[in-house]
Amino acid sequence: MNMNQWRKKEFEDPDVADDIIAYSPSAVIDRNTNDFCRRIDGHYYTKKSFVFPPYHDGCRTIVVPVHKYLYDKNKPIEIFPAKDIPK
Ligand SMILES: [Zn+2]
Repeated sequence: MNMNQWRKKEFEDPDVADDIIAYSPSAVIDRNTNDFCRRIDGHYYTKKSFVFPPYHDGCRTIVVPVHKYLYDKNKPIEIFPAKDIPK
């Protein structure tokens, strides 16, 4: 199990799942960052639509849970652009 699969399991734990309203990818931003990862970085996505990384070879994006009491209410919760994941 890779790190992100492990985190997914952790987020789906019934003790915490109800407090997590969305997922937010966090990319390492530098000149090697993939365009897709740069685009989704920091956005909020519905849990239902979310696809966990890695999105491409060498992907360094991780997933941050969006907690229902601790999030930026000005940011929309979007549908994850799964169709744009790099092939
Ligand atoms: Zn990536």
